[in-house]
Amino acid sequence: MEFDVAIIGAGPAGLTAAIYSARYGLKTVVFEDPTQISQLAIVPFIENFPGYEGSGLDLIMKMKEQASKFGAEHKVERVEDVRKGDGYFFVKTDSGEYKARTIIIATGGKHRELGVEGEKKFVGRGVSYCAVCDGFFFKGKRVAVIGGGNTALADAIYLKDLGCDVVVIHRRDKFRADELLQKQLFDKGIPVLWNTVVERIEGESRVERIVVRNIKTGERKVLEVEGVFIAVGIQPQTEIASKLGVEMNSYGYIKVDKKQRTNVEGVFAAGDCCDNPLKQAITACGDGAIAAYSAYEYLKDEGSGGRT
Ligand code: NAP
Repeated sequence: MEFDVAIIGAGPAGLTAAIYSARYGLKTVVFEDPTQISQLAIVPFIENFPGYEGSGLDLIMKMKEQASKFGAEHKVERVEDVRKGDGYFFVKTDSGEYKARTIIIATGGKHRELGVEGEKKFVGRGVSYCAVCDGFFFKGKRVAVIGGGNTALADAIYLKDLGCDVVVIHRRDKFRADELLQKQLFDKGIPVLWNTVVERIEGESRVERIVVRNIKTGERKVLEVEGVFIAVGIQPQTEIASKLGVEMNSYGYIKVDKKQRTNVEGVFAAGDCCDNPLKQAITACGDGAIAAYSAYEYLKDEGSGGRT
């Protein structure tokens, strides 16, 4: 099957690129990896996306419908390899092979792990990276949320609203989350352990407690919790980009120019996998729209698709 544009990733960047690309009349396919969930889909509540207030999952579903309405094909297949040759890109997935004239990489990011003892052992048995997915199982229970960014605070508020007894554990004495989320957290009376790190997660068959340490005083404490929600940031997913020879910055994010062009002609990138200054749904959408426009310009003119 041959396409003008193959978009790898079905988060806000990829789906916006699909909407724009299909509306430019380009034959478009968007690949969604069934083993990866978009970071947007797990945001409990969005209130800074203009014109929309609601769950991240609902917003993603609306974007999917919109992309399909304009004719973009949606394939729930994991892209395993992409090669360039004879003026085409050859996309190999877990269930098929496709040809495309341009590629938009919108592979986003994946949750970062804390890297402490017990974390891997208790994944799915008390350790979670997704409050929206797993919070329900912890209603009425004591849980700890680790991190000080927007995700951690949004998760803590969501879990509190579900009826969990929440404590936030943050390694510094200041949050990096938006002021508004901080205010909501404090208004709800959610306690915070500042300057505190988790050393171990313990239990028999499920999480029963964590050992934490105050990094200023060195004091250790044991907290009885049944859930540990880890929200310590994301890392860019750039395996496919590497296979194509796309350049990254020193933090592993894809280098793009103002037109979302990479160093590889015909390959564009958008969203959280790029070295953009703000990682929000709205900026990912903006990147996706620009990437689709650049792919359209490139296909019209051929030859101006590389980063300047
Ligand atoms: P983030 O902003 O990178 O924050 C990660 C947090 O985890 C930081 O507070 C960091 O501490 C802490 N951390 C990192 N490594 C740690 C470790 N090893 N041990 C303990 N703590 C650690 O990540 P995020 O909150 O997932 O957000 C990612 C992006 O998505 C951000 O751009 C965010 O604005 C966006 N987002 C937006 C919304 C929304 O608009 N509604 C919702 C969720 C996320 P330090 O502060 O000390 O570095």
